Amino acid sequence: MKICMIGTGYVGLVSGVCFAELGNSIICVDKDIKKIANLKKNIIPIYEPGLEELVKKNFKSGRINFSSDLKSAIHKSDIIFICVGTPTKAKGDEADLRQIFNVTKEIRKYLNKFKVIVTKSTVPVTTGDDIEKILLQKKSKKYFEVVSNPEFLREGEAIRDFMYPDRIVVGTENKKANNILKNLYEPIIKRGRKYLNTSRRGAELIKYASNAFLATKITFINEIANLCEKTNINIEDISIGVGLDQRIGSRFLRAGPGYGGSCFPKDTRAILAVAKKYKIDLSIVKSTIKSNDKRIKILFDRIKLILNNKINKKNITFLGVTFKPNTDDMRESSCLKIIPKLHKLGASISYYDPSGKKDEFHKYKSVFFEKNISLACKNSDLIILHTDWDEFKNLNFKKLVKKRDFKIYDMRNIYSPKKMKLAKIKYFGVGR
Ligand code: NAD
Repeated sequence: MKICMIGTGYVGLVSGVCFAELGNSIICVDKDIKKIANLKKNIIPIYEPGLEELVKKNFKSGRINFSSDLKSAIHKSDIIFICVGTPTKAKGDEADLRQIFNVTKEIRKYLNKFKVIVTKSTVPVTTGDDIEKILLQKKSKKYFEVVSNPEFLREGEAIRDFMYPDRIVVGTENKKANNILKNLYEPIIKRGRKYLNTSRRGAELIKYASNAFLATKITFINEIANLCEKTNINIEDISIGVGLDQRIGSRFLRAGPGYGGSCFPKDTRAILAVAKKYKIDLSIVKSTIKSNDKRIKILFDRIKLILNNKINKKNITFLGVTFKPNTDDMRESSCLKIIPKLHKLGASISYYDPSGKKDEFHKYKSVFFEKNISLACKNSDLIILHTDWDEFKNLNFKKLVKKRDFKIYDMRNIYSPKKMKLAKIKYFGVGR
């Protein structure tokens, strides 16, 4: 099938290249001209395992191309996926849909024959209705059908998630559009993956409800971890014991720094805003957001306690700064709040992240990126294991750090407290 992806970010690029791998002909469009020029040279704008190889392979075979010419891309395509950003509005909790509606108006200009227009971006309930209204202002229904097909991929595992999803959700009550989408996903459905056709509004809400539930699950275990710290219980035992109940499941049940990233924080807030519009009190989601916000203070207070309230002139190392491993995405990473607080109190921060240096820290004069783990840890008073990248999982800290009385705060519970005790390292984890 001939497909146009509008917005070539995490979602547009990954889904575009995966559709190409499944044998379709893809044009990825973005308004960021530099991004498109780089992609044509096979320079990938994001860090995502396996993505570069897949882009190179499909670009070489001609199944995927990159362009900033929206008109020509739309003319050539039968299906148009909208994959632009839906951030939180500058004021309030609502999703800012300007990118969605701008794209809609552009699509409207170039509709030359029937096309299925699909929102892959995460959009609030009734956005599909609004898109349809905008299109109908200038084009009749024979030119389009608006469908919702939310994306559930996780950064860091995006290709696997796209190719082997738990489910594909397609929101449309139009038979023709549903058949086109089902046909497109046929190679994935054949692998035994579930395909759910529901209403357009239903599909939009499934995405928000899923993210709100997962955010709640993470927040729940983090609160239980707080209780474990006071009662001398290991949260890892609780996660295993609770997760073994098949009604609950073990995933997203690991205590840590709180949820972050480009989706959970904005999507939990956006679903609250939608509920408010309809005068529905989503009190559980509200509490989740509040609790996750509070987590930053809990982590920060723990750091202060570990350092006996003496932050000034301390060398603090962050191993990992992204919100999770295998991505370069810094959006809503908890260390964006913790590092500036420590810096303000006079700490000198070194950090190393496998995905490289971060622009977010340029403005702080005592926050330094180091090229490797050894350089980052050499003079450390406190090492904070912030992100559980594989390369941090088997370190010999005694060899890495020059100082004898250094401490470790393992925010991901990567290491065994028993082994650390045997090695005479002052070690602190989360919820244990
Ligand atoms: P992103 O910011 O990485 O990419 C969005 C891209 O859209 C950018 O490259 C931007 O330049 C481009 N764009 C904006 N306006 C445009 C226009 N008028 N024409 C052409 N290009 C335009 O965003 P993302 O992380 O890929 O997220 C996109 C959507 O998918 C969001 O709604 C998000 O919530 C949802 N989503 C994201 C993930 C994830 O893991 N990142 C997972 C599932 C769903």
